Amino acid sequence: MRLMITLHVGIDDTDSPRTGCTTYVASLIVPKLLSLDASFIDYPNLIRLNPNVPWKTRGNGALCLRFKCDKACVDEAKAIIVNLVEKNSDLDHPGTEPGIVFFPSETIPSQLRAFSKQAIQGIVKMKDALTLASSLSAEAIGFKTGRGIIGALAAVGETLVGDHTYELIAYRVPSNRGTKRQVDKESVFEMDKKTAPLTYNNVDHESGRVLITPHGPDPILYGIRGQTADAVKKAHLMVRSLEPVERWTIFRTNQGTDAHLRSIPSIKNVEPYHPVIVKGTVSRPPRIIPRRHVVFSIADGNGQIDCAAYEPTGDLRRKAAELIVDDSFEAYGGVRPASGNRPVTVNLEKFRVLHLAEKLAFTNPLCPRCGRRLGSMGAGKGFRCEKCGFRSRDIRKEAKVISRDLKEEKLYVTSPRSQRHLTKPLSRYGLENNGQPVRMRRQWFGVNDKLERGRSE
Ligand code: ZN
Repeated sequence: MRLMITLHVGIDDTDSPRTGCTTYVASLIVPKLLSLDASFIDYPNLIRLNPNVPWKTRGNGALCLRFKCDKACVDEAKAIIVNLVEKNSDLDHPGTEPGIVFFPSETIPSQLRAFSKQAIQGIVKMKDALTLASSLSAEAIGFKTGRGIIGALAAVGETLVGDHTYELIAYRVPSNRGTKRQVDKESVFEMDKKTAPLTYNNVDHESGRVLITPHGPDPILYGIRGQTADAVKKAHLMVRSLEPVERWTIFRTNQGTDAHLRSIPSIKNVEPYHPVIVKGTVSRPPRIIPRRHVVFSIADGNGQIDCAAYEPTGDLRRKAAELIVDDSFEAYGGVRPASGNRPVTVNLEKFRVLHLAEKLAFTNPLCPRCGRRLGSMGAGKGFRCEKCGFRSRDIRKEAKVISRDLKEEKLYVTSPRSQRHLTKPLSRYGLENNGQPVRMRRQWFGVNDKLERGRSE
């Protein structure tokens, strides 16, 4: 009788700014495991970890593969994985420290889930990762310092039972990597029109830019993000690529869910590197600092903190500039530590104005005798009418309420081109995926056979 084992495999930190991508390594592993008769119980999981950690990998995404296979094949499966990770990691790069975690288990224990949550919302230490892995009898393999073990273990522990999205990633053939990506722009706009909001952030309408294609030397040709596996596959078929696609894979992911943001009770609880949702009242008005960034302060009874909206956040920055003192405000964003003369700052990804303060404009009163607007004779010296000579020290300026260009309770979000992987875009509000069981579509990855035969591995 065959004894089937469920194996969860976490992988992280294989790439560098000059090459590679951990999703690509996972895409290479998938067909090899299937040829061992492994059966996947989930799409490969792409788990984005806290984007504000100072030592992040590009995009800070870790991978988890979850499958069942015959106990007799486990060693071979592990060997395939270790070999492909080693071959496809940029080990010569100083910051690249790959890690792999093998966890054979039917269930994911709660302490591992808690560890993942901490890695997505805060900071976790290597020591804690190793202690936890060993207490769970998970096998951790690290290259060089093995810092990637942290992300690998975190990916295993995040099973995406709550809100999640999908991304179909298509990869370039090796000879094209590093060159300009050849994807027909019109076809992307057309795809967006036909598939949104079941797909999201394909294009940035404000700047007219295509967002599915990255710009670096990595192997990704494009990534299409969406609500369901079917939606991203359908969209993939609409995109016209003018260069060959080596392979494509559908990932299930915490992207676009705000999983990194933790609501905290008070400004005094804001910690550097921990993304937050925090409320306060605008205490210092917005000022424009060099490079057109907007900075202001919010305070509650316990503290005060700076908030910043950067130039590439587009509309968010323009809206932040409209805030005035006493507006009641909710900030969403990463927390940058103090540096030089800049205090700890929340880098805004989105915000909401809970209550707008009254904005008043003061004008000189009208002459009670002839109706003409009075002139001021200087601070505290009263007013004088140029026409009839009326003077008074007792008359006051008139206050007029100015209408505001912000709406109460409305959420303002950075433009798609500057959204982080984890930022939940406006188009996903009300479309959250919660609690649906995972249904694997028949085709969830593809390999260009012709290219595959020509490759030497
Ligand atoms: Zn007058």
